Amino acid sequence: MLKVLDSAVPVACWSCSVAHNDATLFCPHCSKIQPPPGGDYFSVFGIVPRLDIDLGELEHEFHKLSRKLHPDRFARAKENEKQWSLADTALLNDAYRTLKDPIHRTAYLLKLNGAEIGEEHSGKDRKDPSRVPADLLEEVFDLNMQLEEMRMARKMGEADLELQTSLEKAKRKFDGLLDDVDQDLRAQWQAWDAGDTAKRAAAQKTMVSLLDRRRYLSNLVRDVTETLGA
Ligand SMILES: [Zn+2]
Repeated sequence: MLKVLDSAVPVACWSCSVAHNDATLFCPHCSKIQPPPGGDYFSVFGIVPRLDIDLGELEHEFHKLSRKLHPDRFARAKENEKQWSLADTALLNDAYRTLKDPIHRTAYLLKLNGAEIGEEHSGKDRKDPSRVPADLLEEVFDLNMQLEEMRMARKMGEADLELQTSLEKAKRKFDGLLDDVDQDLRAQWQAWDAGDTAKRAAAQKTMVSLLDRRRYLSNLVRDVTETLGA
């Protein structure tokens, strides 16, 4: 059962007193702006929480709501309506940034569904060898040696073309592995969206470990990019 669907509790509109669920930026009855709602990012756009969403529809709703929240429209409004238009705009922008990105959207929805994702839950230091994905142990070990060598060479003001070429090649390889992870994630979306409890739990578990792998690979690529660009 999704907590997110329960969070849309009924509230009364401050202006017309008609009840609506606490997910909407504007009263469906009198169209007046509402304080920032307490629902999830999906409900801001009036869409069902799922991983495979219609990005065109999302963008369309985003522009529509942005226009409705434009400060010019509240130039002569009450002070609290002006405040809400700013707070609602900030919420709308956060929601759009999160949902339009496939990786952020996946992490967000899984977290809403109780998944523990991120550095804070891995409980281990990034340099801890036991955190390295098992299939990459050897390559990561080699890569870290090369990165160390490269940093030393830089410090001494030496150019090591062979090392640089090797690191560039490694970066391409890890970029490719990142693409693979993204494809594997998308492959799980359907199973999660279908809503069958057991299949959803299995898909969620797979996606949490894929997101872990993804974060690990991103950090590696960032380290290589920084060392090459230094
Ligand atoms: Zn109203």
